[in-house]
Amino acid sequence: MRLALFDVDGTLIDADGSGRRALEKAFAETFDLGETPELAGRVRFSGELDPVIHREIARLLGISSKELEAGRKRLLASYLAHLESACGRPGKSRVLPGVQRLLERLHATRDLQLGLITGNLEAGARIKMAPHHLNHFFPSGGFGEDGPDRAAVARVAVERVAAGPAGPVEAALVTIIGDSERDVECGRSNSYRTLAVASGWTSWQDLAAAEPDHLVADLVDTDRLLEILTK
Ligand SMILES: [Mg+2]
Repeated sequence: MRLALFDVDGTLIDADGSGRRALEKAFAETFDLGETPELAGRVRFSGELDPVIHREIARLLGISSKELEAGRKRLLASYLAHLESACGRPGKSRVLPGVQRLLERLHATRDLQLGLITGNLEAGARIKMAPHHLNHFFPSGGFGEDGPDRAAVARVAVERVAAGPAGPVEAALVTIIGDSERDVECGRSNSYRTLAVASGWTSWQDLAAAEPDHLVADLVDTDRLLEILTK
């Protein structure tokens, strides 16, 4: 059994900043900020876990970790509500080139399972992918709430798949597909294979410097990608 674990933002979809904007509104509401903070360019989102992003935003806005902890439930509820309403509207959120076709082909491939590895909370990832009808390809995965860092989240994704009908998967037969160097690092630290795709916010040069097993510009060349993922 092989396992292909896909990152979400910048790899499968470009949600056009809807996650960041929902989070800005959620922080403003939850912590009575008066005005909505502008976080673009001030906080690293790509490749980070949502709880890590929340702590970084809190630090930036002068919200203590105690206040953040006390407001966490309301923050998440507000974030998911804003995200749901943004993703329910027609907007610029899109599936990235080649993704639909690749997922259909992989879904039909014997002895291969699909899963997610993302810093998004599971509820957030599902909301972002719902308008594009991608959720059914991914019965499970590892999500932002599943561990302290991306490498731990990837291991949770593998364990979840192993707990299903597929059974255990050897580390050498797991591939992490993602658009940031964090995806490459989390794969390598677990001895998984890595396929980096330069369709997100990290340049080809920076991805190449992270030394993934494979590096592609996008997910358009289905035949080549199938070869990589089933080899
Ligand atoms: Mg990403």
